[in-house]
Amino acid sequence: MAEQTPATEEIPVGISACLMGEQVRYNGGHKRSRYCLEVLQERFRFEPFCPELEAGLGVPRDPVRLVGALGEEPRVVGTRDPSLDVTEALAEVSRAFIERHRHLRGFILMKGSPSCGLERVKVYHENGMPSHADAGAFVRELRRHFPELPLEEEARMNDAVLRENFITRVYAYDDWKRHVEATPSYHALLQFHSRQKYLLMAHHVEAYRELGRYLAESGKRCLDEVMNRYLVRFMEALGRPATRKTHANALMHVFGYLKDALDGETKQDLLAAIEDYRQGHVHLAVPIRMINHYVKRHGSNYVREQTYLDPHPYELGLRNAI
Ligand code: SF4
Repeated sequence: MAEQTPATEEIPVGISACLMGEQVRYNGGHKRSRYCLEVLQERFRFEPFCPELEAGLGVPRDPVRLVGALGEEPRVVGTRDPSLDVTEALAEVSRAFIERHRHLRGFILMKGSPSCGLERVKVYHENGMPSHADAGAFVRELRRHFPELPLEEEARMNDAVLRENFITRVYAYDDWKRHVEATPSYHALLQFHSRQKYLLMAHHVEAYRELGRYLAESGKRCLDEVMNRYLVRFMEALGRPATRKTHANALMHVFGYLKDALDGETKQDLLAAIEDYRQGHVHLAVPIRMINHYVKRHGSNYVREQTYLDPHPYELGLRNAI
């Protein structure tokens, strides 16, 4: 049975509990995130989770770290007491969390944590010397059992491009959940692909072509299989941040749908705005705002429905910074 989707404005997003200001860190402290609590909380319904607390480690607790050789899956063991091995306990609570939270549209993680770190978490040799870096234990389970879920570290969201990219993925996944997964059909899938085309093109032009071909050849395949394969590739492709060059390419494609309806001067203005953006003189919001103005007046339904033109709430100002 299809999972129930939340009311229109509610976007459920998981978050490392310490980022919400909960005092769950090993030392009894927290890492309250102002951006999450003061800006994103207006849009997202946060669902906090602390894997270490859930695994019964308590607060305060002995700190843990990743230990293992390069190429092996690291174990999570006590920093002071290496006989404390919580690898299995963490994996178990992480899997149970994932099972109960299939409705999430994304997860915001705490950097550097042996449980919640997305990347570059230090892994140590048995002898205590630093060896290499990996993802935290909870993140490993998320990637294994929920690969389509958008993930990002709160600290990386200080970077405007990564911030915009994560929020774009959350909204695209929300669209999928509401309009494809809730009422699965080939029709719903093709409509989703159709309205996400230019967003996909801006992020990953090869995936845009590949997924178009895949859908064209998939009419006789099992719908579940097609949806699963499509979604994983689609979300992976959106995970590659768009650049000025790839945005300019997508903008030129949208412009192509308008040019017959516009006079020469307006066309020159629009082309100049796209070029100014491509060269780094203005932010993406400038050409997007102009294009949207003309799409509203002259665009076909196909162009008006492109999520690329309006992928997340305008008030977040995300395209004023990239
Ligand atoms: S980083 Fe993760 S495991 Fe560590 S305190 Fe925060 S929520 Fe808990």
